[in-house]
Amino acid sequence: MGKTKTGKVYLVGSGPGDPELLTIKAKRLIEAADVVLFDQLPGKAILDMLPERAEKIDVGKYAGDHTLPQDKINELLVERAREGKTVVRLKGGDPYLFGRGGEEAVELAAAGIEFEVVPGITSAIAVPAYAGIPVTHRDHASAVIFITGHEDPIKEDSALDWRWLSEFDGTLVILMGVSELEKNVQELLSHGKDPDTPVAVIERGTRPDERVTAGVLRNIVNEAKKRGVRAPAIIVIGGVVKLHELLGEQ
Ligand code: SAH
Repeated sequence: MGKTKTGKVYLVGSGPGDPELLTIKAKRLIEAADVVLFDQLPGKAILDMLPERAEKIDVGKYAGDHTLPQDKINELLVERAREGKTVVRLKGGDPYLFGRGGEEAVELAAAGIEFEVVPGITSAIAVPAYAGIPVTHRDHASAVIFITGHEDPIKEDSALDWRWLSEFDGTLVILMGVSELEKNVQELLSHGKDPDTPVAVIERGTRPDERVTAGVLRNIVNEAKKRGVRAPAIIVIGGVVKLHELLGEQ
């Protein structure tokens, strides 16, 4: 018997949750996969599309209720590819915007495993869009910054320059920001950001149970608490949020 052919890993973005926002390529690869590694971020509608015959590994709820550590996910990807399998690592939104897709790619490259990234529609743009918020608009913002609201707790200093972010007059889009909402809003206010800057928090965007909580920097923490806002949510800060009233909920 000859040497088994090594398989290939596809780092596939699943978009923000509406299954019609899945790319044609993502759909084709999901349907052809031998193994799919996933977590819950893609959402039920997409996870329901995983093929019956594939080995499905929920790395978000592995062995009881624990998230599989990143190095174990990397190991699994390498291991299954070496078995000759076609592996799909399904990731919410776009694989290379937060969510550690870049780290997985580096590991695969280091292990000499063939891989391909399949970009997805990122929640950072699509979730505001469904809520009637264009992230740029000539009257409101000509630049946009994507921020992680939840930095590695092991890091001693924030990698984020809050003074600079407070002075920036484009749109700020915060991902993974629900648990640290109060802290991040405080950072902006204490560095001089206008308390009347419009803010929207969009939970479960593009999904049937999407919910938008709108306010301004000064009151958004209370509004979010009152409504029991939960992850996953996108936080949008800036003048473009004013368009939500006109363009949202059409
Ligand atoms: N790679 C992903 C982001 C991964 S980080 C992307 O490009 O979309 C995880 C964060 O994504 C969540 O904490 C949340 O801020 C955001 N997110 C992903 N899907 C979302 C959705 N449907 N609604 C709201 N936020 C979402």
